[in-house]
Amino acid sequence: MKASSVLLIYTGGTIGMVHDGVSGSLIPFDLRHIYDVMPELKRLPVTIDFVSLDVPIDSSDVTPAVWERLAGIIEVNYPDFDGFVVMHGTDTMAYTASALSFMLENLGKPVILTGSQLPLGTLRTDARENLITAVEIAASLANDAPRLPEVAVYFESKLMRGNRTTKYSTENFDAFDSPNHPVLAEAGIHILYNSTAILQEPAGPFTVHRRMSDRVGVLPVFPGISPDLVSGVLGVESLEAVILQTYGSGNIPRQDWLLNALEAAVHRGVAVVNVTQCSRGFVEQGLYENSRRLTGLGVIGGADMTLEAALAKTMHLLALGCRSEAFHRAMTASLRGELSPV
Ligand code: ASP
Repeated sequence: MKASSVLLIYTGGTIGMVHDGVSGSLIPFDLRHIYDVMPELKRLPVTIDFVSLDVPIDSSDVTPAVWERLAGIIEVNYPDFDGFVVMHGTDTMAYTASALSFMLENLGKPVILTGSQLPLGTLRTDARENLITAVEIAASLANDAPRLPEVAVYFESKLMRGNRTTKYSTENFDAFDSPNHPVLAEAGIHILYNSTAILQEPAGPFTVHRRMSDRVGVLPVFPGISPDLVSGVLGVESLEAVILQTYGSGNIPRQDWLLNALEAAVHRGVAVVNVTQCSRGFVEQGLYENSRRLTGLGVIGGADMTLEAALAKTMHLLALGCRSEAFHRAMTASLRGELSPV
């Protein structure tokens, strides 16, 4: 039987930091020396190849252009590998995982993002376990086919659907959560896959959508939010969609000026998507008086999507040219398992 093959894509972040031999400071490591830093990778029964961004970044610097580059690397190498592992900083990992899930349509192979809270070059690092298990999962076959046809995040023994994750701890090794979807696998002595939570193999051909729209905004409501701030955001001329981050099950302050501003934006053709500021649960417009009028105004309920997923999905749909009714339909349907059916 031939060994599985995995492409390791290095983007930067804490996971890639090692001590400089001369100064002793933490610096990004050179991917060409990965086997010196992690000789245990050689012991995996997997053929590993490597590619790096030209300039590794702190993931706080991630942009849609970086996502386009990653999607391009995966597209070009897709026929030659059984799976892909993206080494990524933790700060925006959930955004990148969400973006890739939409950019890679009908993905039939695993794309696993992983990172670490402590640099690879430190004694108590979590990077080694995260990276080795991510590679093992990316290489895993069932009946000679990749076991996991989706974009996922592996962190501290949990494999989670990428577009369901959110970073919730700056301190714990267990830094990511998938609040509204069960974990896809748990790594203990064995890696136990939760097959009912994993996406089915796609029926259509693998297609990469590299473009993402930048005509989007995010507007969190908060006590004391001012008409000036709201009109500043909604008044941006090029704006085509805004993610409204609301309280609880989708509530906003019941102020005429706010409802009027939202109505005027929708009227101008700006799509407004309502996601909750709570990490668990979903938006239910109309449950309370404070969200009752939103559906009538044309505000789209974002169900249990994370902010990261809603934003990436919006950027993707706009780039595809999806507008009005078509946008509404796509936003409320599950395209890549990013929302639960109601
Ligand atoms: N700022 C770093 C990054 O996201 C943090 C990390 O990697 O954990 O790139």
